[in-house]
Amino acid sequence: MSEHPASAHRDVTDYELLFDCVHCGLCAEACPTYVATRSEMDSPRGRIYLMKALAEGRMDLDADAARHLDLCLGCRGCESACPSGVKYGRLIEAARVFVECEYRRAGFDRFRRAAVSVVFPYPARLRALLMPVRILDWLGLRKVVRTALPVAAREWLDLLPRHGTNSTEANWPAPGAIADDAPAVIVHHGCVAQVLAKSENANSERLLAAAGYRVVKIPSTKCCGALDLHAGNGERAREFARANVLAISKLKPDAIISAASGCSTAIAEYREILKDDTLAPEAEMLASKVKDLSSLLLERPLQFSARFDCVVTYHDACHLAHGLGVREAPRVLLRSVPGLKLVEMENSDLCCGSAGSYNLTEPKMARELARRKADSIAATGAQYVVLANPGCEFQIAAELRRRGSSIRVMHLADFFALAMTRGAKQNR
Ligand code: SF4
Ligand code: SF4
Repeated sequence: MSEHPASAHRDVTDYELLFDCVHCGLCAEACPTYVATRSEMDSPRGRIYLMKALAEGRMDLDADAARHLDLCLGCRGCESACPSGVKYGRLIEAARVFVECEYRRAGFDRFRRAAVSVVFPYPARLRALLMPVRILDWLGLRKVVRTALPVAAREWLDLLPRHGTNSTEANWPAPGAIADDAPAVIVHHGCVAQVLAKSENANSERLLAAAGYRVVKIPSTKCCGALDLHAGNGERAREFARANVLAISKLKPDAIISAASGCSTAIAEYREILKDDTLAPEAEMLASKVKDLSSLLLERPLQFSARFDCVVTYHDACHLAHGLGVREAPRVLLRSVPGLKLVEMENSDLCCGSAGSYNLTEPKMARELARRKADSIAATGAQYVVLANPGCEFQIAAELRRRGSSIRVMHLADFFALAMTRGAKQNR
C-alpha cells in the first residue's frame, strides 16, 4: 500500500518509485541532456518532477512535457550517479508507454518513429530497406547521392557503416577442440546487429570458442525488445521477451551475451517485464545468465602470440556501464594485449547520443553529444576507440568521419579478433 497521497494518481509510471528521489540534484552532471542544455527540465530531477506532476494531474501532457521526456536518452547515467538508488530506467520506460498512449505527435516525428518501429526489429525488412544503400556502396556512389538528399536523410545515411568496413573475419585461425563439459554460451545476435554488425556477432563467437567456451546457436533470433522498451511499446516488448525466453531457455545456456549491450540489459530486464507471466521462472533464469563478452574472456584468458603496439581509448556504452555495471573488465582485457597502451578519455561514460534509435528520432541532440564525444576521443591521441555496442560504433564513427579523422572505431569483439589474427598471420 502507498504511504503517499496517491489516491487519484494517473498511471504515468511506477508512482511509488518516484518517491525514492530526494531531489538532491547529484545526478545532474551525469546527465548528457542536462550537460548539453543546462535546463532543469532536461535533468533527471526535472523529469522526475514532471512525471510526478503528470501522475498527480497537476499538469497536462502537452507538447512541452512530451518534449522533455522524449529528449531523455534512457542512458541511465543518472542511476549510476544517484546515491538514493532511484530506478530511473524503470520510471522513464513506463512514462514512455504513457506518452505513446496519450500524446499525438506532429506529422514527421510520428512518421520517423513509426518507420523505426515497423522496420528495425525485423532483420528481413531492414535488409530490404538497406539494399539501395548497399548498391550505392558497390557502385561507389554514396557520396554523390548523399549531397542530393535532404538533411534528415543525409544524417541517417551517415550513420550506416559502409558495406564490409567493419569485417575482420578473413584471417581467423581454425578453432581448437572444445571440451563437451565446457560452459555453454549463447550470443544473442539481435535484430539490427544481425544486419549491420555481423562481424561483431561472428567475432564474439570466435573469441569465445578460442577461449574454450561451447558456443550454442539459437535456431532463429528475434529482437530482444529493447527498441520497444525505449519507444514506449510495452506490449510488443513483452511479446519479444516471451519469444526469446521460449527459444533460449530450452537450450540451457550457462551464459548469454550480446554484441549490443542494450540487448543484454533488455534480456536482464525480462525478470521485470515478465514478472506476472506464466514464463516468469524461465525469464528469471535467463536474466540471471546475462553476462558480457569481456568478463567471460577474462575467466578463460586469450593467448596473444604477437605484440599489438597501439594507443587505444575505451568508450563506456551506457547500458553496459550503467545497466549491467561493467566498467573494469573491458579495460583489464585491453591492458592484457601485449604492446597496447590504454588512455582514458574524459567522460568516457557520458552517452554518445546513439541510445538505441535516439539518433534517428532526436538527431539534433544526438549530434551535439556525438560532437562532445569526438572531442574527448580526439584529445586522447588514440589510434583506436574501442567500445562494446554497435550503435555507439556507428554514431562515433560517423562523427569522426565527418571530421576526416583517421581514428578507427572498433567493437571490442572486432578489435580482439584483429589483435588475435595479427598474431596468427605473423606466426604463419
Ligand atoms: S537516462 Fe540519461 S538522459 Fe535520461 S535523465 Fe538519466 S542521465 Fe539524463
Ligand atoms: S535521481 Fe537521485 S541523484 Fe537525482 S535528484 Fe533524485 S535522489 Fe538525487
